[in-house]
Amino acid sequence: MEEAVRAELLEALRPLCKRKTLLENVPLSSYTTLGVGGAAEIFCEVTAAEQLKEVLRIAWRLSVPVTVLGNGSNTLVRDGGVPGLTLHIGEGMAEVSQPVPLPDGRMAITAQAGASLARLANAAADASLTGLEFAGGIPGTVGGAVAMNAGAYGGEISDVLLGATCVSLSGESSHYTKDDMRFAYRTSRLNDPRAPREILVSATFALALGDGDAIRVAMREFNARRREKQPLTMPCCGSTFKRPQGGFAGTLIENCGLKGLRVGGASVSMQHAGFLINDENGNASDYLALIAKVQQTVWEKTGVMLEPEVRIIGVDP
Ligand SMILES: Cc1cc2nc3c(=O)[nH]c(=O)nc-3n(C[C@H](O)[C@H](O)[C@H](O)COP(=O)(O)OP(=O)(O)OC[C@H]3O[C@@H](n4cnc5c(N)ncnc54)[C@H](O)[C@@H]3O)c2cc1C
Repeated sequence: MEEAVRAELLEALRPLCKRKTLLENVPLSSYTTLGVGGAAEIFCEVTAAEQLKEVLRIAWRLSVPVTVLGNGSNTLVRDGGVPGLTLHIGEGMAEVSQPVPLPDGRMAITAQAGASLARLANAAADASLTGLEFAGGIPGTVGGAVAMNAGAYGGEISDVLLGATCVSLSGESSHYTKDDMRFAYRTSRLNDPRAPREILVSATFALALGDGDAIRVAMREFNARRREKQPLTMPCCGSTFKRPQGGFAGTLIENCGLKGLRVGGASVSMQHAGFLINDENGNASDYLALIAKVQQTVWEKTGVMLEPEVRIIGVDP
Protein backbone atom coordinates (compact mmCIF):
# COMPACT_ATOMS: atom_id res chain seq x y z
CA MET A 1 0.00 0.00 0.00
CA GLU A 2 1.28 3.46 -0.75
CA GLU A 3 2.61 5.28 2.31
CA ALA A 4 0.11 8.16 1.99
CA VAL A 5 -2.86 5.76 1.75
CA ARG A 6 -1.56 3.74 4.66
CA ALA A 7 -1.27 6.89 6.81
CA GLU A 8 -4.76 8.07 5.81
CA LEU A 9 -6.24 4.65 6.51
CA LEU A 10 -4.66 4.46 9.96
CA GLU A 11 -5.75 7.98 10.83
CA ALA A 12 -9.33 7.30 9.74
CA LEU A 13 -9.55 3.94 11.52
CA ARG A 14 -7.96 4.99 14.82
CA PRO A 15 -11.06 6.73 16.30
CA LEU A 16 -13.13 3.61 15.53
CA CYS A 17 -10.80 1.12 17.15
CA LYS A 18 -10.20 0.36 20.82
CA ARG A 19 -6.65 0.53 22.14
CA LYS A 20 -4.36 -2.18 20.74
CA THR A 21 -6.95 -3.41 18.21
CA LEU A 22 -5.46 -1.54 15.24
CA LEU A 23 -1.93 -2.68 14.52
CA GLU A 24 0.66 -2.77 11.75
CA ASN A 25 2.69 -5.77 10.55
CA VAL A 26 0.96 -8.39 12.65
CA PRO A 27 2.30 -11.95 12.09
CA LEU A 28 -0.70 -13.97 10.92
CA SER A 29 0.97 -17.22 11.95
CA SER A 30 -0.44 -16.38 15.41
CA TYR A 31 -3.95 -16.09 13.96
CA THR A 32 -4.11 -19.36 12.04
CA THR A 33 -4.12 -22.92 13.36
CA LEU A 34 -1.43 -23.88 10.82
CA GLY A 35 0.91 -21.33 12.37
CA VAL A 36 2.63 -20.29 9.15
CA GLY A 37 2.72 -17.22 6.95
CA GLY A 38 3.73 -13.59 6.87
CA ALA A 39 2.24 -10.48 8.41
CA ALA A 40 -0.92 -8.47 7.86
CA GLU A 41 0.08 -5.03 6.62
CA ILE A 42 -2.68 -3.46 8.73
CA PHE A 43 -4.62 -5.57 11.22
CA CYS A 44 -7.88 -4.62 12.88
CA GLU A 45 -9.65 -6.58 15.58
CA VAL A 46 -13.36 -6.02 14.95
CA THR A 47 -15.38 -5.32 18.09
CA ALA A 48 -18.87 -4.39 16.85
CA ALA A 49 -21.11 -4.71 13.81
CA GLU A 50 -21.49 -0.95 13.37
CA GLN A 51 -17.73 -0.49 13.64
CA LEU A 52 -17.25 -3.18 10.98
CA LYS A 53 -19.44 -1.21 8.54
CA GLU A 54 -17.58 2.01 9.20
CA VAL A 55 -14.20 0.34 8.81
CA LEU A 56 -15.29 -1.19 5.50
CA ARG A 57 -16.58 2.14 4.18
CA ILE A 58 -13.21 3.74 4.91
CA ALA A 59 -11.24 0.93 3.24
CA TRP A 60 -13.63 1.10 0.26
CA ARG A 61 -13.19 4.87 -0.10
CA LEU A 62 -9.40 4.45 -0.10
CA SER A 63 -9.49 1.36 -2.38
CA VAL A 64 -7.64 -0.70 0.21
CA PRO A 65 -8.03 -4.50 -0.24
CA VAL A 66 -9.76 -6.21 2.69
CA THR A 67 -9.18 -9.73 3.97
CA VAL A 68 -11.33 -11.39 6.64
CA LEU A 69 -10.15 -13.93 9.18
CA GLY A 70 -12.17 -15.80 11.76
CA ASN A 71 -10.28 -18.38 13.79
CA GLY A 72 -7.92 -19.05 10.87
CA SER A 73 -8.59 -22.79 11.08
CA ASN A 74 -9.08 -23.13 7.35
CA THR A 75 -6.61 -20.54 6.15
CA LEU A 76 -3.06 -20.75 4.84
CA VAL A 77 -1.26 -17.42 4.74
CA ARG A 78 1.59 -17.20 2.22
CA ASP A 79 5.02 -16.23 3.58
CA GLY A 80 4.93 -12.72 2.07
CA GLY A 81 1.93 -11.83 4.22
CA VAL A 82 -1.33 -10.07 3.38
CA PRO A 83 -1.27 -6.58 1.85
CA GLY A 84 -4.01 -4.13 2.76
CA LEU A 85 -6.34 -4.41 5.72
CA THR A 86 -6.96 -7.69 7.51
CA LEU A 87 -10.06 -7.80 9.71
CA HIS A 88 -10.09 -10.33 12.51
CA ILE A 89 -13.62 -11.23 13.59
CA GLY A 90 -13.37 -13.20 16.79
CA GLU A 91 -14.10 -12.78 20.48
CA GLY A 92 -14.73 -9.04 20.06
CA MET A 93 -17.94 -9.79 18.15
CA ALA A 94 -19.12 -13.09 19.55
CA GLU A 95 -22.54 -12.77 21.16
CA VAL A 96 -24.91 -15.73 21.11
CA SER A 97 -28.60 -14.96 21.74
CA GLN A 98 -31.09 -16.78 23.90
CA PRO A 99 -33.29 -19.13 21.83
CA VAL A 100 -36.61 -17.67 20.63
CA PRO A 101 -39.60 -19.66 19.33
CA LEU A 102 -40.34 -19.78 15.61
CA PRO A 103 -43.89 -20.10 14.21
CA ASP A 104 -43.16 -23.68 13.04
CA GLY A 105 -42.31 -24.88 16.55
CA ARG A 106 -38.55 -24.78 16.14
CA MET A 107 -36.32 -22.39 18.06
CA ALA A 108 -33.98 -19.76 16.62
CA ILE A 109 -30.53 -18.91 17.98
CA THR A 110 -28.60 -15.97 16.55
CA ALA A 111 -24.82 -15.80 16.81
CA GLN A 112 -22.44 -13.04 15.82
CA ALA A 113 -19.79 -13.97 13.29
CA GLY A 114 -16.95 -14.13 15.80
CA ALA A 115 -18.63 -16.64 18.14
CA SER A 116 -16.91 -20.00 18.16
CA LEU A 117 -18.86 -22.95 16.83
CA ALA A 118 -18.15 -24.72 20.12
CA ARG A 119 -19.86 -21.91 22.03
CA LEU A 120 -22.83 -21.94 19.66
CA ALA A 121 -23.19 -25.73 19.80
CA ASN A 122 -22.96 -25.67 23.59
CA ALA A 123 -25.58 -22.92 23.83
CA ALA A 124 -27.88 -25.06 21.68
CA ALA A 125 -27.20 -28.13 23.81
CA ASP A 126 -27.85 -26.18 27.03
CA ALA A 127 -31.29 -25.34 25.65
CA SER A 128 -31.87 -28.98 24.52
CA LEU A 129 -31.88 -27.90 20.87
CA THR A 130 -30.76 -30.44 18.31
CA GLY A 131 -29.07 -29.87 14.93
CA LEU A 132 -25.66 -28.45 15.83
CA GLU A 133 -24.12 -31.51 17.53
CA PHE A 134 -21.85 -32.01 14.48
CA ALA A 135 -20.34 -28.54 14.92
CA GLY A 136 -19.10 -28.65 18.52
CA GLY A 137 -15.63 -29.94 17.60
CA ILE A 138 -15.01 -27.83 14.49
CA PRO A 139 -12.52 -25.18 15.61
CA GLY A 140 -13.94 -22.26 13.61
CA THR A 141 -16.05 -19.17 14.12
CA VAL A 142 -19.63 -18.81 12.94
CA GLY A 143 -18.36 -16.51 10.14
CA GLY A 144 -15.83 -19.03 8.88
CA ALA A 145 -18.29 -21.89 9.24
CA VAL A 146 -21.04 -20.16 7.26
CA ALA A 147 -18.56 -19.05 4.57
CA MET A 148 -17.22 -22.62 4.28
CA ASN A 149 -20.53 -24.41 4.90
CA ALA A 150 -18.59 -26.39 7.49
CA GLY A 151 -19.78 -29.87 8.23
CA ALA A 152 -18.98 -33.18 9.85
CA TYR A 153 -20.58 -36.51 10.75
CA GLY A 154 -23.46 -36.09 8.31
CA GLY A 155 -24.40 -32.53 9.25
CA GLU A 156 -23.48 -29.17 7.79
CA ILE A 157 -24.22 -25.51 8.43
CA SER A 158 -26.67 -25.27 5.53
CA ASP A 159 -28.92 -27.87 7.26
CA VAL A 160 -29.67 -25.49 10.11
CA LEU A 161 -29.09 -21.95 8.85
CA LEU A 162 -32.24 -19.85 8.72
CA GLY A 163 -30.81 -16.50 7.69
CA ALA A 164 -27.67 -14.41 7.63
CA THR A 165 -26.91 -10.73 7.99
CA CYS A 166 -23.98 -9.64 5.88
CA VAL A 167 -22.25 -6.44 4.93
CA SER A 168 -20.74 -5.63 1.55
CA LEU A 169 -17.22 -4.28 1.16
CA SER A 170 -18.75 -0.85 0.62
CA GLY A 171 -20.50 -1.13 4.01
CA GLU A 172 -24.09 -1.92 2.91
CA SER A 173 -26.09 -4.43 4.99
CA SER A 174 -28.15 -7.25 3.49
CA HIS A 175 -30.20 -10.02 4.98
CA TYR A 176 -30.15 -13.38 3.23
CA THR A 177 -32.24 -16.51 3.49
CA LYS A 178 -30.64 -19.92 3.38
CA ASP A 179 -31.39 -20.17 -0.37
CA ASP A 180 -29.74 -16.80 -1.00
CA MET A 181 -26.55 -18.12 0.61
CA ARG A 182 -25.91 -20.49 -2.36
CA PHE A 183 -24.52 -23.21 -0.14
CA ALA A 184 -22.69 -26.11 -1.73
CA TYR A 185 -20.10 -28.55 -0.47
CA ARG A 186 -17.70 -26.46 1.70
CA THR A 187 -18.63 -23.18 0.06
CA SER A 188 -21.26 -20.44 -0.02
CA ARG A 189 -21.86 -17.04 -1.60
CA LEU A 190 -19.32 -15.65 0.91
CA ASN A 191 -16.58 -17.68 -0.74
CA ASP A 192 -17.74 -17.40 -4.35
CA PRO A 193 -14.89 -15.84 -6.37
CA ARG A 194 -17.39 -14.65 -9.02
CA ALA A 195 -19.56 -12.74 -6.52
CA PRO A 196 -18.83 -9.39 -4.88
CA ARG A 197 -17.23 -10.03 -1.50
CA GLU A 198 -19.42 -9.84 1.59
CA ILE A 199 -18.78 -10.35 5.26
CA LEU A 200 -21.01 -12.22 7.65
CA VAL A 201 -22.11 -10.16 10.64
CA SER A 202 -24.45 -12.68 12.27
CA ALA A 203 -26.35 -15.85 11.45
CA THR A 204 -29.59 -17.32 12.76
CA PHE A 205 -30.00 -21.07 13.12
CA ALA A 206 -33.32 -22.92 13.33
CA LEU A 207 -33.14 -25.88 15.69
CA ALA A 208 -35.64 -28.46 16.88
CA LEU A 209 -36.29 -29.26 20.52
CA GLY A 210 -34.56 -32.50 21.42
CA ASP A 211 -33.36 -34.59 24.33
CA GLY A 212 -30.64 -32.68 26.18
CA ASP A 213 -28.87 -35.84 27.37
CA ALA A 214 -28.86 -37.40 23.89
CA ILE A 215 -27.49 -34.16 22.40
CA ARG A 216 -24.61 -34.14 24.92
CA VAL A 217 -23.89 -37.83 24.31
CA ALA A 218 -23.71 -37.24 20.53
CA MET A 219 -21.38 -34.26 20.99
CA ARG A 220 -19.08 -36.22 23.29
CA GLU A 221 -19.05 -39.15 20.86
CA PHE A 222 -18.16 -36.93 17.87
CA ASN A 223 -15.35 -35.32 19.86
CA ALA A 224 -14.01 -38.72 20.92
CA ARG A 225 -14.00 -39.82 17.26
CA ARG A 226 -12.03 -36.69 16.36
CA ARG A 227 -9.47 -37.29 19.11
CA GLU A 228 -9.04 -40.89 17.99
CA LYS A 229 -8.70 -40.21 14.24
CA GLN A 230 -7.25 -36.71 13.84
CA PRO A 231 -3.86 -35.22 14.76
CA LEU A 232 -5.50 -32.57 16.94
CA THR A 233 -2.34 -31.62 18.82
CA MET A 234 -0.48 -30.68 15.61
CA PRO A 235 -0.70 -27.32 13.80
CA CYS A 236 -2.99 -28.03 10.84
CA CYS A 237 -6.08 -26.78 9.03
CA GLY A 238 -8.19 -29.92 9.26
CA SER A 239 -8.73 -31.75 5.97
CA THR A 240 -6.44 -29.96 3.55
CA PHE A 241 -8.38 -31.14 0.49
CA LYS A 242 -12.05 -31.29 -0.39
CA ARG A 243 -13.63 -34.69 -0.60
CA PRO A 244 -13.31 -35.86 -4.22
CA GLN A 245 -16.29 -37.40 -6.00
CA GLY A 246 -16.99 -40.90 -4.73
CA GLY A 247 -14.26 -41.09 -2.09
CA PHE A 248 -12.20 -39.51 0.63
CA ALA A 249 -9.04 -37.49 0.08
CA GLY A 250 -7.36 -39.18 3.07
CA THR A 251 -7.95 -42.68 1.70
CA LEU A 252 -6.62 -41.73 -1.76
CA ILE A 253 -3.52 -40.12 -0.24
CA GLU A 254 -2.89 -43.11 2.04
CA ASN A 255 -3.40 -45.58 -0.83
CA CYS A 256 -0.80 -43.67 -2.85
CA GLY A 257 1.69 -44.39 -0.04
CA LEU A 258 2.03 -40.73 0.94
CA LYS A 259 1.60 -40.96 4.73
CA GLY A 260 4.65 -39.34 6.30
CA LEU A 261 5.69 -37.56 3.05
CA ARG A 262 7.61 -34.45 4.11
CA VAL A 263 8.62 -31.11 2.61
CA GLY A 264 10.68 -29.09 5.10
CA GLY A 265 8.66 -28.72 8.27
CA ALA A 266 5.36 -29.91 6.77
CA SER A 267 4.28 -33.52 6.41
CA VAL A 268 1.34 -35.79 5.66
CA SER A 269 0.04 -36.94 9.04
CA MET A 270 0.75 -40.57 9.90
CA GLN A 271 -2.50 -40.60 11.87
CA HIS A 272 -4.80 -39.28 9.10
CA ALA A 273 -3.50 -38.82 5.56
CA GLY A 274 -6.12 -36.15 4.80
CA PHE A 275 -4.41 -33.86 7.31
CA LEU A 276 -1.24 -32.12 6.17
CA ILE A 277 0.46 -30.88 9.33
CA ASN A 278 3.10 -28.35 10.23
CA ASP A 279 4.88 -30.63 12.69
CA GLU A 280 8.44 -29.30 12.40
CA ASN A 281 8.03 -25.56 12.38
CA GLY A 282 7.63 -25.25 8.62
CA ASN A 283 6.69 -22.23 6.61
CA ALA A 284 3.94 -21.61 4.07
CA SER A 285 6.26 -22.47 1.17
CA ASP A 286 6.87 -25.94 2.68
CA TYR A 287 3.18 -26.44 3.10
CA LEU A 288 2.31 -25.27 -0.44
CA ALA A 289 5.02 -27.50 -1.89
CA LEU A 290 3.66 -30.46 0.07
CA ILE A 291 0.13 -29.75 -1.23
CA ALA A 292 1.49 -29.68 -4.79
CA LYS A 293 3.43 -32.96 -4.32
CA VAL A 294 0.41 -34.74 -2.91
CA GLN A 295 -1.80 -33.41 -5.73
CA GLN A 296 0.66 -34.46 -8.40
CA THR A 297 1.24 -37.97 -7.03
CA VAL A 298 -2.46 -38.64 -6.49
CA TRP A 299 -3.18 -37.33 -10.00
CA GLU A 300 -0.52 -39.54 -11.58
CA LYS A 301 -1.57 -42.65 -9.67
CA THR A 302 -5.35 -42.30 -9.69
CA GLY A 303 -6.37 -39.62 -12.20
CA VAL A 304 -8.04 -37.61 -9.39
CA MET A 305 -7.03 -33.96 -8.98
CA LEU A 306 -7.48 -33.06 -5.31
CA GLU A 307 -8.80 -29.56 -4.73
CA PRO A 308 -7.61 -27.69 -1.64
CA GLU A 309 -10.30 -27.02 0.95
CA VAL A 310 -7.93 -24.70 2.82
CA ARG A 311 -8.23 -21.04 1.72
CA ILE A 312 -4.88 -19.76 0.54
CA ILE A 313 -4.33 -16.02 0.98
CA GLY A 314 -1.55 -13.47 0.77
CA VAL A 315 1.50 -13.09 -1.41
CA ASP A 316 4.79 -14.92 -1.87
CA PRO A 317 7.86 -13.25 -0.32
C1 LIG B 1 -8.30 -29.76 13.69
C2 LIG B 1 -9.29 -29.22 12.68
C3 LIG B 1 -10.44 -29.93 12.41
C4 LIG B 1 -11.36 -29.46 11.47
N1 LIG B 1 -12.48 -30.17 11.22
C5 LIG B 1 -13.39 -29.70 10.34
C6 LIG B 1 -14.60 -30.43 10.08
O1 LIG B 1 -14.87 -31.46 10.66
N2 LIG B 1 -15.44 -29.91 9.15
C7 LIG B 1 -15.20 -28.75 8.49
O2 LIG B 1 -16.01 -28.34 7.67
N3 LIG B 1 -14.05 -28.05 8.71
C8 LIG B 1 -13.16 -28.49 9.62
N4 LIG B 1 -12.02 -27.79 9.85
C9 LIG B 1 -11.75 -26.55 9.08
C10 LIG B 1 -12.27 -25.27 9.74
O3 LIG B 1 -12.33 -25.40 11.16
C11 LIG B 1 -13.64 -24.87 9.22
O4 LIG B 1 -13.62 -24.64 7.83
C12 LIG B 1 -14.16 -23.60 9.93
O5 LIG B 1 -15.49 -23.39 9.59
C13 LIG B 1 -13.34 -22.35 9.54
O6 LIG B 1 -13.71 -21.32 10.42
P1 LIG B 1 -12.67 -20.16 10.78
O7 LIG B 1 -13.38 -19.16 11.61
O8 LIG B 1 -11.44 -20.72 11.37
O9 LIG B 1 -12.40 -19.60 9.32
P2 LIG B 1 -11.09 -18.92 8.73
O10 LIG B 1 -10.05 -19.93 8.49
O11 LIG B 1 -10.71 -17.74 9.54
O12 LIG B 1 -11.67 -18.44 7.32
C14 LIG B 1 -12.09 -19.40 6.36
C15 LIG B 1 -12.79 -18.67 5.22
O13 LIG B 1 -13.96 -18.06 5.72
C16 LIG B 1 -13.92 -16.65 5.48
N5 LIG B 1 -14.52 -15.97 6.62
C17 LIG B 1 -14.18 -16.05 7.93
N6 LIG B 1 -14.98 -15.27 8.67
C18 LIG B 1 -15.84 -14.67 7.81
C19 LIG B 1 -16.90 -13.74 7.94
N7 LIG B 1 -17.28 -13.24 9.13
N8 LIG B 1 -17.55 -13.35 6.82
C20 LIG B 1 -17.21 -13.82 5.60
N9 LIG B 1 -16.22 -14.70 5.40
C21 LIG B 1 -15.54 -15.12 6.50
C22 LIG B 1 -12.45 -16.31 5.33
O14 LIG B 1 -12.27 -15.12 4.59
C23 LIG B 1 -11.94 -17.55 4.62
O15 LIG B 1 -12.23 -17.48 3.24
C24 LIG B 1 -11.09 -28.24 10.78
C25 LIG B 1 -9.92 -27.53 11.07
C26 LIG B 1 -9.03 -28.00 12.02
C27 LIG B 1 -7.79 -27.21 12.32
